[in-house]
Amino acid sequence: MDVKCWFWKRVKKPKYITSQNELLIFYAQCGTCGELFRTIIRKNSELSQNFEQENTYEVHKELIGSYCPNRIHVHLWLSQGLKLLKQTVTGGILLTEEEYTRLKEEKNA
Ligand SMILES: [Zn+2]
Repeated sequence: MDVKCWFWKRVKKPKYITSQNELLIFYAQCGTCGELFRTIIRKNSELSQNFEQENTYEVHKELIGSYCPNRIHVHLWLSQGLKLLKQTVTGGILLTEEEYTRLKEEKNA
């Protein structure tokens, strides 16, 4: 195995969605003011079946912060096993739990 191949095998795909019992949690940051969001999605009520592709789910969320008028639109597509297939986010970015925790600590420092 060459070095490059070994390297790629060790790079983890960022995990933007955490599953906790009946909840899904994702983290985001406002692209305008940097405000951090921790968003909870209820699997029972907030996941909608995607009819274009069988056995997948869609989630729409609009996040409005308290520091600026920017709105963050988050659109997620999930597999049946609730793994993130793709995402489109406007007005901000998704964060992993580690990134969110780190930024939160920096803000509070
Ligand atoms: Zn903002």
